[in-house]
Amino acid sequence: MAASLKKAGMFIYRAAALLTAAGLLLFSASCGEKGAEPYGGQDYVMGTLMTQTIYGGNEELAKKATSEIRVMEAAISNKFNTSEVSKISALAGSGGVESKYFDIYKLAVDVSVKSGGAFDITIAPVVDLWGIGTPDARVPSREEIEGLLPFVDYGFVKLEDGTVSLTKEGAALDLGSIGKGAAADLALSVYRDAGISSAIVAVGGSIGVLGGKPGGAPFIIGVRDPKGGGNDYLGTLALKDISVSTSGSYERFVEKEGVRYHHILDPKTGYPADSGLVSVTVVHENGALCDALSTACFVLGLEKGVKLLDGYGANGIFIDKEDKVFVTKGIQSNFELKDGLGYELVKIE
Ligand code: ADP
Ligand code: MG
Repeated sequence: MAASLKKAGMFIYRAAALLTAAGLLLFSASCGEKGAEPYGGQDYVMGTLMTQTIYGGNEELAKKATSEIRVMEAAISNKFNTSEVSKISALAGSGGVESKYFDIYKLAVDVSVKSGGAFDITIAPVVDLWGIGTPDARVPSREEIEGLLPFVDYGFVKLEDGTVSLTKEGAALDLGSIGKGAAADLALSVYRDAGISSAIVAVGGSIGVLGGKPGGAPFIIGVRDPKGGGNDYLGTLALKDISVSTSGSYERFVEKEGVRYHHILDPKTGYPADSGLVSVTVVHENGALCDALSTACFVLGLEKGVKLLDGYGANGIFIDKEDKVFVTKGIQSNFELKDGLGYELVKIE
């Protein structure tokens, strides 16, 4: 495991803060807490680091959460050709697959519709072409990209009686933008079923929070400074019973002739989204929704992104290229911007 973590560029720092390697930092919940020491564990799932902190939990419970997530990953990841997502793609135009994760597909399509296609799980062929985050990453030609755009359209996804299918041959699915949030949701439900009332789980840039700290205080989550290193944060969120997810352009990219091409693509063009934002953090009870919305908002930009969040009753933090940090109303009292970094806080009315 250590080798894979290193390969992915993830490091664990001082005892006080555990790096999630993505847009959010999880401050060690045990730091200065009175009462029970939490059980803490780390695993490598869904191509990223998962950190579990469970008050009143133990290794067995953490392992249960990890193994359920691995089962889900084996189904919804398109990295394995045995997965149900790979089967759905292979059957495109001719058949479908019944899925116990039907609700995740449903949510993904809902966000696709409401974001006007800024979010689109049929982006797979174009994502594969770029290969960002893989050893084969490259900048494809415009012709190659445009040749694949006719296969990208969430309208090809058919959801019927628990069965998922694609109506166009050559179309394919990528749930990479929603899977980590769904994994965090799954971990929280495993904790809840075991009678736990205080826990926090991070799956890459998706964090799930169950309750608050044992004394009743909220959990503190650091929002990464896009200009800083992996362990630098520009502000903190104090939260209870909620999920948080961040999408940022600094996460994964390929560079050519001094130009950076990041991994969040605009389904309309097939090129990295350029909406003026560098990072979006979304806060809502549903972790899978947070994950999908953070990707969607990154593509949509500030104005349309805020509207999309409003429609779901979600909140967010949008960081733009001018170092402005926009925070929606519902979380303004939970967010604290760090002084001295040169960022400007803008409260959205
Ligand atoms: P991360 O994987 O870094 O947490 P996201 O949740 O934002 O970030 O998901 C990005 C991943 O989703 C990409 O690596 C790609 O697989 C896929 N993707 C890229 N662009 C889109 C898009 N517009 N809609 C849906 N999925 C996307
Ligand atoms: Mg996402």
